[in-house]
Amino acid sequence: MARRPRRHSLHGHDESLPEGFLIGIRKSLAAESELLVDSLAAPSPTSIRLNPRKPFALEAEPVPWCEHGRYLAHRPAFTLDPLLHAGAYYVQEASSMLIEQAVRAAGAHQRDLLALDLCAAPGGKTTHLLSVLTQGSFLIANEIDGKRRSILAENCWKHGALNVAIAGSLPSDLQALPDRFDLILLDAPCSGEGLFRRDPFARQQWSRRLVEQCARTQADILPHAWHALAPGGHLIYSTCTWESAENERQVARLISMGAEPVMLNIDPAWGVERTERDGGAGYRCYPHRVRGEGFFLALLRKPGSPIARRPTGPVCATRNLGWVKAERPLDLAEQHDLLIARPAAWANELDRIAAAMRLTMPGIPVAERKGAEWVPHAAAALSELLQTGAVTHVELSLAEAMAYLRGETIAAADAHDTACAMYRGFGLGWLQGAGRRWNNRWPAAWRVRQTRSEAPPVSWSEY
Ligand code: SAM
Repeated sequence: MARRPRRHSLHGHDESLPEGFLIGIRKSLAAESELLVDSLAAPSPTSIRLNPRKPFALEAEPVPWCEHGRYLAHRPAFTLDPLLHAGAYYVQEASSMLIEQAVRAAGAHQRDLLALDLCAAPGGKTTHLLSVLTQGSFLIANEIDGKRRSILAENCWKHGALNVAIAGSLPSDLQALPDRFDLILLDAPCSGEGLFRRDPFARQQWSRRLVEQCARTQADILPHAWHALAPGGHLIYSTCTWESAENERQVARLISMGAEPVMLNIDPAWGVERTERDGGAGYRCYPHRVRGEGFFLALLRKPGSPIARRPTGPVCATRNLGWVKAERPLDLAEQHDLLIARPAAWANELDRIAAAMRLTMPGIPVAERKGAEWVPHAAAALSELLQTGAVTHVELSLAEAMAYLRGETIAAADAHDTACAMYRGFGLGWLQGAGRRWNNRWPAAWRVRQTRSEAPPVSWSEY
């Protein structure tokens, strides 16, 4: 069989992979390092994760370790697909979907629990957790960077789950919340070697110093996460790099704090490698073995018996918001001209957490104040809270939906009041009637600027 042309080499004529990285990889992978370097010159597989809350017909090859993960035969122009903006799927590389196996090994998909995603933006793993955890669970998605936190909120709202809040706390804030969370995902900031194939910036910024810096940051964050983990609870530690200083050695720190490593149910055919080194253990994905990018994951358990959660809270007299359905009891609270919905069962617990963490959005905003009125919030149109029967629907064509996402008005024969713009049956956003046109209420910050692409358009029936 003819070999693929190689863009990188371990023998001095590499042009784009950092030398220090190559030396490290040669040490840890020996002869196999050549295969890794070859794979970094090959195209990345394209994969998406479907949103079980917003199902649509798609025939595509499954990602074997993730129920809703799918490989696509080529990379289409996702930005020009309204279903992406409606939250019907999330574009995510396949290896990182392995966290689903950790959630399952922890049994966290089977009981209602309180979960924390500590380094959450842009929200790939947050929305994945929201798809795997029970509807009776609650997830706090935390991100320290303000700009990235806005993107995290956007992605959570597009996903549509009700059981999520956004926080902007430092990991050290968790010192005030000992033994609190049943599940913590720590997807740590890392040196990003696993992204070398698809992200030239990851290669440019890599240095031995960056690896050391990241290892220090991870070592700083870990004890806070461990402190906040409830007895019998599970911590998922992950990175997208192959440095043992950032992976197994961090796991070794957790083990020295009392953590028990937990095995995952991994099919050998997936190519995921179990590693034990430097006193720690975990699972590694290499692109020459796994159909995905580079990734590391470990699952750890805190000794003790799990807390039986019986969340309770007030059921506030719901305002008569026609566009919100409350199949489960809701608590509606006003915060800075927003009306925020959260599952009533978690309201008391969230109030206690709010005393320690900066909950920037303690639930899903369903309405915003405009003068003396409450008008529907963008998140409500995308949410499972949308009361579809109670609002006028305007089903948009592909061209109209793209115009809507660009912030344009939509021509109409007789447009009045507020209506919900729909695409293929999914709520997209709000329209305001103005006679012969619908005015656009899609948030300015989410507008699509791209009008054309060299990539082929999405055509789901093709896959
Ligand atoms: N989990 C995310 C996902 O799946 O979409 C990716 C998270 S990214 C690997 C790591 C995140 O950690 C970044 O959003 C970054 O802003 C945040 N971060 C960086 N330094 C941090 C620190 N010292 N403490 C907490 N978070 C930090």
